[in-house]
Amino acid sequence: MPVQEIRLFGDPVLTTPATPVTVFDKELRNLVSDLMQTMHDAPGAGLAAPQIGVSLRVFVWDVDDQEGHLINPSLDLSTEMQEGEEGCLSFPGLLYETPRSMRVVAKGFNMHGEPVVIEGSELLARCLQHETDHLDGIVFIDRLVAEERKKAMADIRNSDWFANAIDLGNTPTFKISPHTINKPGF
Ligand code: ZN
Repeated sequence: MPVQEIRLFGDPVLTTPATPVTVFDKELRNLVSDLMQTMHDAPGAGLAAPQIGVSLRVFVWDVDDQEGHLINPSLDLSTEMQEGEEGCLSFPGLLYETPRSMRVVAKGFNMHGEPVVIEGSELLARCLQHETDHLDGIVFIDRLVAEERKKAMADIRNSDWFANAIDLGNTPTFKISPHTINKPGF
């Protein structure tokens, strides 16, 4: 399966709630495979289907040498919070202090339609929250405190990739950014 183009902020698919998966077929397994390959190619620690232009409730991750996928997720969040920088493959090169719950229990399905439960803390918990947000049409800058969000909007307006997207009326392909390799990009 081919590596897909990653959609960048400004593409309406990123702010549209995705549709639940109802058919667990070969097409779905191909989607999971495309997501995995595109995430590894970026490289990133997570990727949600809307980020490759597919508005379905599916995401993949590769965190702490463990990879996986989840379909139609629902999350139980801890009240205990964590601090840390977060990035997104749909916002190349940008990282912001993003508050998240410390622990998550994610319930959903695997690509064969079997129920699965994923428990994560710290980085995996952050990833599961970031990706589930993508499926709800929420991007990580929506989670920032007001001051940080203001800075993010200015950075986005000043970024080459956003300027290019506006000029061309479409979204350019994002390949490797030196800023995201050692930082969590989802
Ligand atoms: Zn993201």
